[in-house]
Amino acid sequence: MARASNEQLDGNVLHNALAACRRHLTFVIMFSFALNILYLTPSLFMLQVYDRVLASGDVLTLVFLLVVLVLALGTLAFLDGTRIRLLAAMAKRFDRLVAPYVLNAALSKEGRAAAGQVQLVRELDTLRSAVSGPPALAAIDAPWTPVYIGVCFMIHPWLGALTLGGGALLLLIAFINQRASSRALRANLQASGAMYSLQQADSAQLETARAMGMRKALVMRQLRARETMSDAMRKQARSGAVYTSSTKFFRLLLQSSALGLGVLLALEQQISAGAIVAASILAARAFQPIELIVGAWSQFEQGRQAYDVLKAVLKTEDNARDHTGLPTPQGSLSVESVGVRAPGSDRALVYNASFRVSPGEIIGVVGPSGAGKSTLLRTAVGAITPDQGVVRLDGAKLSDWDPEQLGRYVGYLPQDIGLLQGTVADNIGRFSREAHNDADIVAAAQAVGAHEMILSLAKGYDTEIGAGGRGLSIGQAQRVALARAFYRDPMFLGLDEPNAHLDGDGERALIAALHAARARGAASVVVAHSSAIVAVVDKLLVVRDGRIEAFGPRDQVAARLAGGQARPAVVASGGETVGRS
Ligand code: ATP
Repeated sequence: MARASNEQLDGNVLHNALAACRRHLTFVIMFSFALNILYLTPSLFMLQVYDRVLASGDVLTLVFLLVVLVLALGTLAFLDGTRIRLLAAMAKRFDRLVAPYVLNAALSKEGRAAAGQVQLVRELDTLRSAVSGPPALAAIDAPWTPVYIGVCFMIHPWLGALTLGGGALLLLIAFINQRASSRALRANLQASGAMYSLQQADSAQLETARAMGMRKALVMRQLRARETMSDAMRKQARSGAVYTSSTKFFRLLLQSSALGLGVLLALEQQISAGAIVAASILAARAFQPIELIVGAWSQFEQGRQAYDVLKAVLKTEDNARDHTGLPTPQGSLSVESVGVRAPGSDRALVYNASFRVSPGEIIGVVGPSGAGKSTLLRTAVGAITPDQGVVRLDGAKLSDWDPEQLGRYVGYLPQDIGLLQGTVADNIGRFSREAHNDADIVAAAQAVGAHEMILSLAKGYDTEIGAGGRGLSIGQAQRVALARAFYRDPMFLGLDEPNAHLDGDGERALIAALHAARARGAASVVVAHSSAIVAVVDKLLVVRDGRIEAFGPRDQVAARLAGGQARPAVVASGGETVGRS
């Protein structure tokens, strides 16, 4: 999807996007060059006014100097505005080049894992502000500090030495600031990420909270998270404040010292009276970029950290890898020695599970609550990556398929239904923007017997539903999600308790759809307890405590279970025995 971008952005996305903004940046630097030369105008004006006008009393010269000053300052203001506009245009281009990759990573497992608590889209916004806001301007103006110091040297070596020493002192403060604020900033980012995630998650359950009087308790725990964030922010602000205020103190002191030194030099007749004021203005101008850098440091540092986070996330395998297109699968799935651990822990949820599904076969997965049925199904459809073993579709590992291409051949109904915000048609059509997919959408709804129900909704297929299917009854939501699973006749179906919320008609339509899928050669794995669904399946797979306890032809396995045989033989598709845990 993101790879479809016209830009040649392979390799390091961020680096290439910044390189693509080089033209904008070149103009900004050119404008900054002119701008910084024009910044010398007030000093020159002072020099001329004190040394010429005051000495000669010539009003015409003063008027002429004023006209030149107004013209120069007008040009300066125009260039300043233009460079800000240019930076805004550059930010837009940068965003357009990077956002598809970041949004793609935010929806990938690897990307989410690499991001941790941090919200990727916010990181992108932070980086965008850093490359186009005050930190960028401060960095662009910084190289002019030596020029202003040089001009001070031209006025008098002592004045040059003072500004040079002052500049070095301010730079030292900026360096210490960077070292000190980095850790505080990182802690702040982590704490605010955690606080926003918690707030979002709690808001999603506001009805539950309201019905059971949980609002106050939730507010209290959000306040605790906010307190942690406030603490981190205060620490960061406190550390930044020391450096910002000391920079201001030293800048003002140095500026006045330049004036004092100028007066001394003028008393000794080494420089003119105008040069005193000019030197003071120049010293102020020389220190300004450094002060700006110290002030914009937290934004600069945030941008740098955002760059590191995004770089790590965009490098994850899912994003970096190109996949060779594979032929349409025939519908043969094999799960080989698959093991799954709970995220962030060593607890095994599924142990060494192996089974095979041939084209046209329907496997029923049964077992007690919490046995690992959903986890096994999620692994089989590629929703989660196993920690051990592989899942293959038509011989190719799921990781070797382009995820988008693979998704077209897979129909998955999660246990929590998983509808997204959008219209019913958007959801069934999997949000594909292709034209002419209406017929496929209607066909999928008809296949699972949802067409009439959808037409009875306020706006039929164009009815807007909220995240999680809000606005539909749970039974309606399950039927829409089933239509999404059957959209464009996938060759592998993974359905988790697909009849949990269906009425009799819905269940009959589902059974008919499963028969049709079998007839066209699709492989199906269905987690189900109801006898109506079990009656359709060819084989049964019994899961208990994360292990496959039995796998084989339905009637055989059912008879063994009914006969109370504790651990029946594990028979794979085709009759051979496969790994038993
Ligand atoms: P049910 O019939 O109740 O839906 P199930 O057989 O489908 O149960 P799973 O949902 O696969 O069971 O859960 C298997 C085990 O994995 C459970 O013990 C559950 O607590 C654990 N589990 C599931 N998801 C996670 C997760 N994200 N993190 C940690 N543990 C998890």
